[in-house]
Amino acid sequence: MNSIGDVWAHIIQKLEGAYSPSLVETWMTGVRPLALDGNVVKLLIPSDFQRDVISTDFAEKIAFFLEALLGFEVKLELLSAEERARAEMRVSREIEDQDATESPGQNDYTFSNFIVGNSNKFAHAACKSITKHLGDSFNPLFIYGGSGLGKTHLLYAIRNELQRFGKTTLKVHYIKGDDFTNEMVDSLGMGQSAMRAFREKYRFLDVLLIDDIQFIGGKESTQEEFFHTFNTLYEANKQIVLTSDRPPKEIKTLEDRQRTRFEWGLIADIQAPDIETRTAILNRKSRDLGVAMTPEVADYIAGRLKKDIRQLEGTVKKIKALVLLDHREINIETAEAAIAGVLSDNISLPLLIDRAFIETSAYFSVSVEDIKGNRRNADFIQARQVCMYILREITSMSLKQIGDLFGGKDHTTVRHSILKIEREIEEQSDLRGDIDEIIGNIRQG
Ligand code: ADP
Ligand code: MG
Repeated sequence: MNSIGDVWAHIIQKLEGAYSPSLVETWMTGVRPLALDGNVVKLLIPSDFQRDVISTDFAEKIAFFLEALLGFEVKLELLSAEERARAEMRVSREIEDQDATESPGQNDYTFSNFIVGNSNKFAHAACKSITKHLGDSFNPLFIYGGSGLGKTHLLYAIRNELQRFGKTTLKVHYIKGDDFTNEMVDSLGMGQSAMRAFREKYRFLDVLLIDDIQFIGGKESTQEEFFHTFNTLYEANKQIVLTSDRPPKEIKTLEDRQRTRFEWGLIADIQAPDIETRTAILNRKSRDLGVAMTPEVADYIAGRLKKDIRQLEGTVKKIKALVLLDHREINIETAEAAIAGVLSDNISLPLLIDRAFIETSAYFSVSVEDIKGNRRNADFIQARQVCMYILREITSMSLKQIGDLFGGKDHTTVRHSILKIEREIEEQSDLRGDIDEIIGNIRQG
């Protein structure tokens, strides 16, 4: 008898003898022994209600059998999963807060804690270089890459680096693309003097860092104003750095002349991290958060999460929460639980929809427009129907809502498509595998 699992199996057997197997099954199903910590035995129980029943009707017997087996006095702690979920929320919030207080104003997004690997070394080098040669080497610098790959980190690193050297006379401004657009639209709406103030503010900057520029654009007047601001800075040799989730040519809302200007300087992409980089990041984040992770566990996580550094970081934080809450050991099982939590977290519906289109289009090598559109080429139709099927499976949208995403198609069309895919899944086993792979990609971002 060496694990808490063995101990628990023995106790169940004893309880079945004392009560009846069916009664024990009714009340003990789903109960999981969490830890034996000194003389405290912790049990995790699926619901508050079941916990209350166990506490009044079974706890005494459980403690008795445990003491008989272990040979020492035992204190039983009953924790309901519902309660635990609430506590987990609290702890992760505390971890977030701790992070936030340690990094007022994103001060710890620096070059020194940015891990460099093959996937990001070019972007990293370009960012470092411009801090030494402002405005005259790579201008504008345009960095693009998927979500969670370090674009925002690099922008803040530039700002922190410039401020670190006490060049306080330099005016460095970081802003998100959509905030910039909003600010500009507000100023435009408030009339001449607001607009003048807006122009002044941006015209006298030394370095302008705009994050997620794909959210800019839209209205003509906004584009016009942005174009003007951009040119003023550019012509005065002021450094401009932009990030985006895609290269300039794929930002559809941009006017051509603006897109061309983004391409004048240097374009650097960031790719998904390779295995060495992922492992290095895990080790670094574990060390920073005080999570003692074995190489085996780090390898396991690095093998599961391949596309997003934010998820790697999130997993380390989740592990820390599980350790603090449940006194869980840091092993593969705990890592798996943390990964599952991270993957299901924080995917908002709009993002999920976006990813469904992108991943389906990538899988079938057809464009998102053709998936959404009406063209009746067999490849487009297949991708379109699979995408509808996936949206129905991974969201709770109605057939009508799904139809609206595809250029306002009727709900009967959507239903027909979904039924067709269901039939095809039954006929060809490959299709289910394909769909699962796409869904996996969507969830992993
Ligand atoms: P993006 O802006 O590309 O979506 P972020 O810059 O917000 O991504 O990065 C997500 C998280 O991952 C941040 O907490 C960031 O510090 C971390 N991160 C990303 N790349 C690296 C890296 N190369 N080294 C260390 N941490 C990284
Ligand atoms: Mg970002």
